[in-house]
Amino acid sequence: MPSDCLFCRIIAGQLPASQVYSDDSVVAIRDIAPQAPTHILLLSRKHIASVADVGEKDRDLLGKILAVGAELAAREGVATDGYRLVVNTGRNGGQTVDHLHVHLLGGRPMAWPPG
Ligand code: 5GP
Ligand code: ZN
Repeated sequence: MPSDCLFCRIIAGQLPASQVYSDDSVVAIRDIAPQAPTHILLLSRKHIASVADVGEKDRDLLGKILAVGAELAAREGVATDGYRLVVNTGRNGGQTVDHLHVHLLGGRPMAWPPG
């Protein structure tokens, strides 16, 4: 675990977070600066810098994270009206934390294209 990685430290319990889900490969927390009524971050337990760094043996993890996102959207009560799963990747993609995560945003209408 990279000791300087914010999300690794949250997963390790070294920094506080509002955790809403945890299993052997995925941890979900509420975003500290929510951009929608529901804003959850789905983190891979394993440190992987971004979706661009997912290797062959971790591909199943991507499907797993999306499936957990759909499950949590239903649990949060935002699934019927719709929601968005977002993976910011790299500088132009707006990624600010270099640890694989998917945003679950819901509870309000979303615009397209994104900013
Ligand atoms: P990114 O910009 O990399 O796609 O997403 C990083 C997200 O992490 C941002 O939405 C930001 O608000 C959130 N974030 C940054 N620091 C913390 C923190 O300490 N705790 C939590 N729960 N979220 C954080
Ligand atoms: Zn990490």
